Amino acid sequence: MTSLYDLGQIILCTADSSAIVSQFIKTLTTSYCIDIDTFKTVLLLLNNSDYDLLVRERCRNGICGYPLCNVNIPAPNRLIPFTWYCNDYHFDCSQFVLTQLRKFPIYDVSLLQKDLTDGELANTASITLFEEYLRDKVWDNDMDSVTTSMNMFRMR
Ligand SMILES: [Zn+2]
Repeated sequence: MTSLYDLGQIILCTADSSAIVSQFIKTLTTSYCIDIDTFKTVLLLLNNSDYDLLVRERCRNGICGYPLCNVNIPAPNRLIPFTWYCNDYHFDCSQFVLTQLRKFPIYDVSLLQKDLTDGELANTASITLFEEYLRDKVWDNDMDSVTTSMNMFRMR
């Protein structure tokens, strides 16, 4: 597994951003992100083709393509993206991430190095994971039903 600390070591000890990205991909080809913050920090520096490469390398190694997962998968079919993941949910999670990554990474590596030197976490709020999106949606629905219940209560 890979933590934010491990990534910090790579970011601080590697000079240029393409070397950092290659190192991230190399690390996560055989490992996985221990938590959401670690994953989001990785995502700040990846563009969509980096992410695609990471997913392919992981499944070539027999691990679910979603970098927050470490489930082993049977020999995937190179042409069928559904087979690159341990389940449909992780396929969806990955697609959700891909829609937010661009041709160029969101974060500049020198800013990330500065934040880490200052002991601050990178600004990971710019990316939303599918897990977070679903959680917020459930929360909204719960709040709606609470409000409706309260209104019904008040009308009596
Ligand atoms: Zn998975």
